[in-house]
Amino acid sequence: KTTGRNKAEPFEPAMHATAVKRFDLEADLRRAIAKGGELELFYQPIIDIQNDRMHGYEALLRWRHPTRGLVSPIDFIPLAEDTGLIVEIGRRCILEAARQIAAWTPPGGGMPPQVAVNVSGRQFAAEGLLDDIENALRITEIPPGSLKLEVTESLVMDNPERTVDLLKRIMAIGCKVSIDDFGTGYSSLSHLHRFPFNTLKIDRSFIVRMADSREGFEIVRVIASMAKVLERDVVAEGVEEQNQVTALRDMGVEFVQGYVFSKPLPAAEATAFLEKWRQKERD
Ligand code: C2E
Ligand code: CA
Ligand code: CA
Ligand code: CA
Repeated sequence: KTTGRNKAEPFEPAMHATAVKRFDLEADLRRAIAKGGELELFYQPIIDIQNDRMHGYEALLRWRHPTRGLVSPIDFIPLAEDTGLIVEIGRRCILEAARQIAAWTPPGGGMPPQVAVNVSGRQFAAEGLLDDIENALRITEIPPGSLKLEVTESLVMDNPERTVDLLKRIMAIGCKVSIDDFGTGYSSLSHLHRFPFNTLKIDRSFIVRMADSREGFEIVRVIASMAKVLERDVVAEGVEEQNQVTALRDMGVEFVQGYVFSKPLPAAEATAFLEKWRQKERD
C-alpha cells in the first residue's frame, strides 16, 4: 500500500536541489548588492496614444549575473522579498531612477519624462520609504512629479489604512502614485475612490481578453470609464498589437505600455528612444 512517506521520498532529492539553488541565488544576490553594478534598471516606454507623444517609462529591474546571464525579476524579486534584501534594492532603484530622470531633463528647464518605479510590499511596510524618496529628490533636484511610485492593487488591499496614509504622504511631496496590476486583486470598484492615486494600470490579462469576447472588451471599457469618472489616468499594460492600440484609443484610454511600442530597454537605448520621439514631436 502506498503511504504518504513512500510517495514523498522520490521528491526529496529534488527538494534538496531546489533549496541549494535558492541558497546559491541568495548568496549571489547578497554579493551582488555588496559589490554593486550587477543590478540594473531597464526602462519600458509608455506612450500617450491620444496625442501620439512619449509620456514616460516604467523602470524594471534586471540582474546581470556573472555566470547565469540576465536574470528575470520574476526569479529574484520573490527571493529578495523573503530575505528582506528588497528594501536595500528598492532604495537603490529609487535613487537610480531619479538620477536617470535628471539625465533626461532637457537643458533649459523642459519637463523630463515621468518614470514609474515599482515598490514591493516589504519595502512599503518597512520604515524609511518616504526618507528614501525625499533623499533621491534632494540629491537629484528632479521635479517631484516626474517620479512615480507603483504599488500593486493587492498590496493596497492588504493594509488599506496604512497604505492610504503612506500614499497620501508620497503625494504630498509631489510624487505620483499608480496602482499596478489593477483587476487582479479583490478591491471593489466602489472603494477605489477612497484611495489616493493618480494612475490605474489595467493588467495585461484584461488586455489579452479584450479581443476574445464582447464581455472581455466591455470589462476594459468599464475600468477605463470608471477611472475617468474618478479623474485618474489609465495605462493599459502588456499591449502587443496595433489593433489593441486602436481599440484602446477609441475607448478613450490615454496611455499604453507594451511590446507594440517597445520592450524594456537598457538606459542608453531608452535614451535613444526618447530622443527619437522628441525629434518626431518637434517635426
Ligand atoms: P509588472 O510590474 O507588472 O511589470 C510588467 C511586466 O510585463 C514586465 O515584466 C514587462 O517586461 C512585461 N511586459 C511589458 N510589456 C509586455 C507585453 O507587451 N507583453 C508581455 N507579455 N509582457 C510585457 P518584467 O520586467 O519581467 O517584470 C516582472 C515583474 O517583476 C514586474 O511586473 C514587477 O512585479 C517585478 N519587478 C520588476 N522590477 C521591479 C523592481 O524594481 N522592484 C520591484 N519591487 N518589483 C519589480
Ligand atoms: Ca509595475
Ligand atoms: Ca503590472
Ligand atoms: Ca505584474
